[in-house]
Amino acid sequence: MHGSIPSKAREEGRSRATRRLAEADADVWRLIGLEDDRQTTGLQLIASENIASGAVREAVGSVLTNKYAEGTPGKRYYSGCEVADEVEALAQSRAKQLFSTDYHVNVQPHAGTQANLAVYQACMKPGDRILGLDLNQGGHLSHGFKLNQSGKLYEAHFYTLSKDTDRLDYDSIARVAAEVKPKLILAGASAYPRLIDFARFGEIAKSVGALFHADIAHIAGLVAAGLHPTPFGHADFVTTTTHKTLRGPRGGLVFCKPEFQKAVDSSVFPGMQGGPLEHEIAGKAVAFGEGLQPAFKEYQGRVLTNARALADELKGRGWRLVTDGTDNHLMLVDLGGVIDGAEAQDRLAKRRIFANKNLIPWDTRPANKPSGIRLGTPAMTTRGLDENDFREVARIVDDVLRGRENEIDARVAALARG
Ligand SMILES: *Cc1c(COP(=O)(O)O)cnc(C)c1O
Repeated sequence: MHGSIPSKAREEGRSRATRRLAEADADVWRLIGLEDDRQTTGLQLIASENIASGAVREAVGSVLTNKYAEGTPGKRYYSGCEVADEVEALAQSRAKQLFSTDYHVNVQPHAGTQANLAVYQACMKPGDRILGLDLNQGGHLSHGFKLNQSGKLYEAHFYTLSKDTDRLDYDSIARVAAEVKPKLILAGASAYPRLIDFARFGEIAKSVGALFHADIAHIAGLVAAGLHPTPFGHADFVTTTTHKTLRGPRGGLVFCKPEFQKAVDSSVFPGMQGGPLEHEIAGKAVAFGEGLQPAFKEYQGRVLTNARALADELKGRGWRLVTDGTDNHLMLVDLGGVIDGAEAQDRLAKRRIFANKNLIPWDTRPANKPSGIRLGTPAMTTRGLDENDFREVARIVDDVLRGRENEIDARVAALARG
């Protein structure tokens, strides 16, 4: 009412809307501050991580978190979805532009795993066969691991890498596919340092009458920048995360050939999920907009040259890399018994260097104490490190792994400061 003193309830409403986190919840505010310090003062070498921009985070923290928008743009189950419709349609059209594709895209999956499960549900019945890369050799848990739904609902079969080269061996994959006769063949990995020949996978799938699903969760940014062969045109389904090399908010995407649009959309909702996270979708739209700028392509190019510099310097220091190097943003270091992967991860983390332990192909050690660590360049490249900096990263990692830790903290701090 005009001129009247605001009621207590109204005052409270206003203060709820405008109070900053530091005032409203000092505990969570403090914890986020600590995490911010960890991220900005250390070396982030976890290959699946990146650093979303302030603009992406602003969209993700927006009022869109308040909105229910079950359905798809223009066909919602709630009122008031006009803005959500535009946000989601914008994310869709930018996603298609980013990958230069006319495939249909669903931008609602909450993460990469949900995107994959949505594909399976869209084209298979429980008990149907899937064929993907063995988890122990760089595959992902959503490709048929026994503790994941993909391994419980479907009959999962696996191909392996070549024992000689540690690379995908397409002739052998073709033979396994002919034996297994899967309904769906998966290509894609979490710890594979070389290019993937999606055209060849497409041919193999066709030759055995299987559908082909490319999961580009790790390499999506490189694919978008034209620095890795694209699966579009070869695959029936393409899934990805949005938070790895793509550098957006956490989330997933499913692309499909137009004939699967209906099946995929209804598999995501109501098949897998309820209301879409429109604030995350707004963040995805912002990230795709960034991805369409020339700076993004340059960034992805630096991710690659930095990975080569890191790999080269590590080899120069006597470390064997799986496949002897990398074509992409990551590498697997075979620790060769100098130290196990778990110990390496811990020792590095104490010096604020973050990397993850990883099985290497044909590892004889268990997954909790594997023979390798995985290193990636996306996050620190976002921070601005160049090739020389990554050579210093390699020397620091080498020194820590070999127990030469004098002066390490200062060298880490100097690099992290940029
Ligand atoms: C990271 C990843 C995913 C999905 O990960 P989420 O954590 O569920 O987002 C799927 N496939 C591959 C190959 C991955 O590396």
